[in-house]
Amino acid sequence: MFFRMGTTLSAETRLASLNGRVPTIATLCSHSSLQIFHGARIEGFPTIGICVGPPPKFYDAFPLARPDEFLSVPTVKDLPQLTDQLRDDGAILVPHGSFVEYLGPEAFSRLDVPVFGNRAVLGWESDRRKERDWLESAGVTMPRLYEDPKEITGPVIVKYYGAKGGKGFFLAKNREALDDFHPTGPYVIQEYVLGTRYYMHFFYSPIAEGGYRLRDGSLELLGMDRRDEANIDELYKLGSAEELHRTGLRPTFVVTGNVPVVLRESLLPKAFEAAGRIVERSIELFGGMVGPFCLEGIMTEDLEFKVFEISTRIVAGTNLFISGSPYSDLIEPGLSTGRRIAREVAHARTTGRLAEVLS
Ligand code: AMP
Repeated sequence: MFFRMGTTLSAETRLASLNGRVPTIATLCSHSSLQIFHGARIEGFPTIGICVGPPPKFYDAFPLARPDEFLSVPTVKDLPQLTDQLRDDGAILVPHGSFVEYLGPEAFSRLDVPVFGNRAVLGWESDRRKERDWLESAGVTMPRLYEDPKEITGPVIVKYYGAKGGKGFFLAKNREALDDFHPTGPYVIQEYVLGTRYYMHFFYSPIAEGGYRLRDGSLELLGMDRRDEANIDELYKLGSAEELHRTGLRPTFVVTGNVPVVLRESLLPKAFEAAGRIVERSIELFGGMVGPFCLEGIMTEDLEFKVFEISTRIVAGTNLFISGSPYSDLIEPGLSTGRRIAREVAHARTTGRLAEVLS
């Protein structure tokens, strides 16, 4: 994928908008924004909620998470017109899944406002091939990709390129069942990994001291969830997937919510080692992935963790842990990922290291 990273202003000029002032934490009102505003407020930062049309009414229901100010745009695509104003307000944009998806990773990466984390990561995460190169070169196991269907030896999941919200996936129990698949666009055939899913919420700080050390900085585990996915989670009640395919019912993997989980304690070293290698490889490849990221994978019955995706920013599953998780409570009670982001900004500011956590 052709990815133009160019912003109009240099990183130094963008960051100069924060000189000598308390930054404002800004994000798009969606996804995990309540948590981000809540965390920023606890850490003493003013907040701006960017909204499409009038401010969303449901924010009034959550006074501790309502941003101090709303900035409205007619559509998300108009957001780049706000950049001068956001810099004048000393804003730091916190990316989340909806923010990047609605605007598009390329347009997001070109915003002339300081962004929390390294925006270069977007070019690696949004291109599935580059993502695989990154993770596999970090020694992480991913589900096998089948170039030739003849090689298929077990269940597979067929994904169309850019399939949104897990719609349009096709499941086949074996090679023969794939005969029922009639593609309508470019796709990849992936090993369907049998096991249990875990979505692990990590945070990498290049400036923290102590804790679980990497070559530079520290790695924290702030929580873990499993996604509720419709309709796949309840589909079994209607019969076998094969029967259903014949009736035209298709499995979908649309995320509708999240449930908290913890990992068997003896598997935690494996999780940290994989996440640590991914961070260290990101430093070699593109200068490092800073802040929250999520490893999304399946633990097999042989206790092998196969990663099918990485999200390189705050994920919505962290919303479960606005007042802390079984993991973050062991770092500091009440530490959400949103609050951890604000804490990183505060620490970077007082130590003169903002350039290492913003881009
Ligand atoms: P994705 O769009 O790649 O994040 O996948 C959406 C959902 O599909 C995941 O949350 C899993 O439930 C499921 N999934 C994706 N890839 C695999 C795989 N290789 N094996 C089993 N389940 C998968």
